[in-house]
Amino acid sequence: MRIGAIEAGGTKFVCGIGNEKGEIFEKVIYPTETPEITLKKVCNFFQNKKIDKLGVGAFGPIDLKPNSKTYGYIKKTPKLEWIDFDIIGYLEKELKIPIFFDTDVNAATLGEATWGIAKGIKNCVYITVGTGIGGGALVNGKLVHGMLHPEMGHIIIKRHPKDTYKGKCPFHSDCFEGLASGPSLKERWGKEGKNISEEHIAWDIEAFYIAQGIVNFILTLSPEKIILGGGVMKQSQLFPKIRREVVLLLKDYLQTNEILIDIDNYILAPKLGENAGLLGALALTL
Ligand code: ZN
Repeated sequence: MRIGAIEAGGTKFVCGIGNEKGEIFEKVIYPTETPEITLKKVCNFFQNKKIDKLGVGAFGPIDLKPNSKTYGYIKKTPKLEWIDFDIIGYLEKELKIPIFFDTDVNAATLGEATWGIAKGIKNCVYITVGTGIGGGALVNGKLVHGMLHPEMGHIIIKRHPKDTYKGKCPFHSDCFEGLASGPSLKERWGKEGKNISEEHIAWDIEAFYIAQGIVNFILTLSPEKIILGGGVMKQSQLFPKIRREVVLLLKDYLQTNEILIDIDNYILAPKLGENAGLLGALALTL
């Protein structure tokens, strides 16, 4: 079977053709411009490729309720031209094949649980820390949607005692994303994360916030693995700091080997690498 996949991001659209084994045969990248310009290129790519179905993992928020009048629409987003745009309706009309649609982070979660670091695991959480913070959750083998879809990056967390930065979230100022996204690091310290030295207190504060997010998701969703991706997590010195902070914050409350003994195999980096987004979108169609 030939399956199409789209990783629809705020800066680029990655389109690919693959199969149900998670093999990618072909891949192209287009910049995210207006919906008309970008989707015309996307549809031209998929025309005559003989794909049977298409998976789309999209930036959001997006409407995932099948019986909603605005199902498949991008909702309130900082990318103004995309607000209230019917992305799935557009693709269905042009390509005339079944389309499977979810948030980019839910797609990444499913990709890692299908072929990646959480392969075969039915309960896991994927958190991306980059331009924004988002999370996807797989519970009993199913992606969580509910009323809308989780917005795990906007939970309320407590401040580090040494942090006086106001926060970057346009809605909540000092929510999780407001305090720990890539842009918040840059504004707080006056330089990008990749230019801040490994020993800088920035990383202790960053780990303190990411650990709080993780602790909240452990306590509410009881995941068997936590996967941390996104640009900020390329700073690999964060992983041991985050693991240590998670243990400290939980204070022996959860008596499980995953946390008390084997936390190095509990909080992990993703495994699917540069094709993670595409493979996630592909997994949505299975
Ligand atoms: Zn927020």
